[in-house]
Amino acid sequence: MKARALKKDKVNIITLGCSKNLVDSEVLSGQLVANEIDVVHENKKLDHNIVVVNTCGFIDKAKEESINTILDQLELKRRGKLDKVYVTGCLSERYRSDLESEMPEVDAWFGTMELPLMLKQFDADYKTELLGERLLSTPTHYAYLKISEGCNRTCSFCAIPLMRGQHVSKPIEELVAEAEGLVKKGVKEIMLIAQELTYYGLDIYKKRELAKLLDSLADVKGIEWIRLHYAYPTKFPLEVLEVMKRRDNICKYLDMPLQHASNNMLKAMKRNITREEISQLIHQIREQVPGICIRTTLIAGFPGETEDDIEELKEFLIEHKFDRVGIFTYSHEENTSAHLLEDDVDQETKELRAQEIMEVQQEISLEKNQEKVGKVLKVIIDKKEAGRYLGRTEFDSVEVDNEVIINTKMKLTIGEFVMVKITKAFDYDLEGEVVND
Ligand code: SF4
Repeated sequence: MKARALKKDKVNIITLGCSKNLVDSEVLSGQLVANEIDVVHENKKLDHNIVVVNTCGFIDKAKEESINTILDQLELKRRGKLDKVYVTGCLSERYRSDLESEMPEVDAWFGTMELPLMLKQFDADYKTELLGERLLSTPTHYAYLKISEGCNRTCSFCAIPLMRGQHVSKPIEELVAEAEGLVKKGVKEIMLIAQELTYYGLDIYKKRELAKLLDSLADVKGIEWIRLHYAYPTKFPLEVLEVMKRRDNICKYLDMPLQHASNNMLKAMKRNITREEISQLIHQIREQVPGICIRTTLIAGFPGETEDDIEELKEFLIEHKFDRVGIFTYSHEENTSAHLLEDDVDQETKELRAQEIMEVQQEISLEKNQEKVGKVLKVIIDKKEAGRYLGRTEFDSVEVDNEVIINTKMKLTIGEFVMVKITKAFDYDLEGEVVND
């Protein structure tokens, strides 16, 4: 025990939830490193003595995963393998007082906006000059860039504004500096993230400035791909499409969560948009940026959802043939306005509906992938697994979208771009061979 007390602290950060949380963990680790504290992400070697669990409080499943992770770490502490367990992130922000009494062995709890306070726990200073400095937890060729925090929308199902507060955009020059710093570390692809991407600028510039931000980021030398995640459809700033079309390093890719398509559901979800308006927007996007890949996410089983609503959603998917679709089952979250409604679709039905939707999408996805056979596409190499390389096209984001499987005897470098001729299509993946351009 004595020897242990002399050992230098080493902090392991465990991140749950979304890419926004991942960026927070990277910022925390950047600050710790600047204070000369050893820090690692998801340490498998178990040679650390302090753990920070960065939790997610988005939906039931995510909350359960976060709680189980904290309990596992507390068990390690009980067995003498850890000295301290700290908890931060959305779950901690939302349920801190309940959790504090349920898990008193946790050494300290922090909210989503308490980074300086957390650093104090480590006797570390919050260094404001470190603007955007992060210890990346992603492979060095890609990184997320969080352009704003919080959300001013009031979607009835969503607990995020309760945990992340009101929308705060980061100024363009800060984001450009952050992107330049990422390029110096070897990043070639940046993924713009926010709770609500298209609101960017309204708070600090009094107008939507996503297009201007994109133009500025596209000027940063060394960024080969810029990708847009989480664009709210209402009042979508159409000038973004003009920039996307004009700038070669902005991927023709848009992640636009729509949540549903039936007008009854859109109204109950307080999405401030109708099916007809969404359809019109999709037509405009596809017309202005031909070949664009549109990803969307949906919710099945919202209160009051009927079989007719699901049929309407299926028709909508067939009509618009989205390139990528993700689906969640509705989670009844306290303190949201939907919580006042009766959660009247049982879990089994929610799951069945989600499955039906994904079956419709599976056919669409296969059809779209088959259209790519014979084409030569630019692919970024992400990793090597089981003797094969796995990469992505500009139409695919990390983890959630298709991969391109490449069987080759050539030695490829992780993070390099290669031209690949697509030879085979699967439901959600492609296969191809490297060609010389
Ligand atoms: S726009 Fe997104 S983050 Fe904001 S309330 Fe709606 S679903 Fe939640």
